Amino acid sequence: MSQQGAAPLTKAEIIAEAKRLGAELVGFASVGRWAEHGDLSWEYDPQRLWPLTKTVIAISIPSLLPITETKINAVYHAQYTNTNQLLDEIAYRLSAFLNRHGHAAFNICRDGYGVDAMRLRPVAVFSHVWAAHYAGLGEVGWNHCLITREFGPRHRLVSVLTALELEGDPMVEEGSICNKCQLCQKACLTQSFSGNKHKDRRSNMNKYACLNRRAKFKGEPCGYCLKVCPVGEDRKRFQSRKVNHYFEERTAFFAKNRVSLDPVHPMNLGPLPSSES
Ligand code: SF4
Ligand code: SF4
Repeated sequence: MSQQGAAPLTKAEIIAEAKRLGAELVGFASVGRWAEHGDLSWEYDPQRLWPLTKTVIAISIPSLLPITETKINAVYHAQYTNTNQLLDEIAYRLSAFLNRHGHAAFNICRDGYGVDAMRLRPVAVFSHVWAAHYAGLGEVGWNHCLITREFGPRHRLVSVLTALELEGDPMVEEGSICNKCQLCQKACLTQSFSGNKHKDRRSNMNKYACLNRRAKFKGEPCGYCLKVCPVGEDRKRFQSRKVNHYFEERTAFFAKNRVSLDPVHPMNLGPLPSSES
């Protein structure tokens, strides 16, 4: 339902604008899904943040696999910053587009709290992961990331809240993407995940263990729980189907407590053979 005097906007028009701005995946969650599914406390309900919310628009852009794999700090961090800025810009500009058409909307930045603040209290203002799940982009996997068919967990998310009432997209059935292989748990440098895959929908996550990894490992990029995940069309595209080398890399990482940097090649693991693992 449109606000009084507002120009009508369809989902297709909003998706087209989001993609023109650089979004890869776009989905719509009707606000009732938070209460209906009850996965989160009321603190995280969009209507608690903003009572006018009728729809949450979830937006994702990929973290490109070779950069997720690189061990060159500067390359990894620069790309991380670039994707975050792009994501926030897309969401801001999409909010402005909705407002221009008469529909109240604003974006919630992707995070930006900083590790120090997160160490004191590892909670966010809003869960983009669950918003994207309710918007049908993927499912919340064993590693607590949103797992998509396109990129597995290798992407970043942001959300736009709007008073424009739109039909929610079909949600992904839980268990249809994350196969609970637990490779993310096995590869984690800090043993942040635990749980019984036969009983639990997803792992228990020790957020402090993950947050403290930077101090422990001198700020080296981590993300083993992302890059090891075998799900995602991106693995096929980058001809990277094997995962054993992550475990070898991890062993070496522990042995040295640092990783070797290849000053020449930004992907020191190199392209992998296209055969199945
Ligand atoms: S690595 Fe396996 S268990 Fe972990 S999120 Fe990916 S599919 Fe799920
Ligand atoms: S980022 Fe690293 S330490 Fe944190 S959960 Fe993933 S693998 Fe574990």
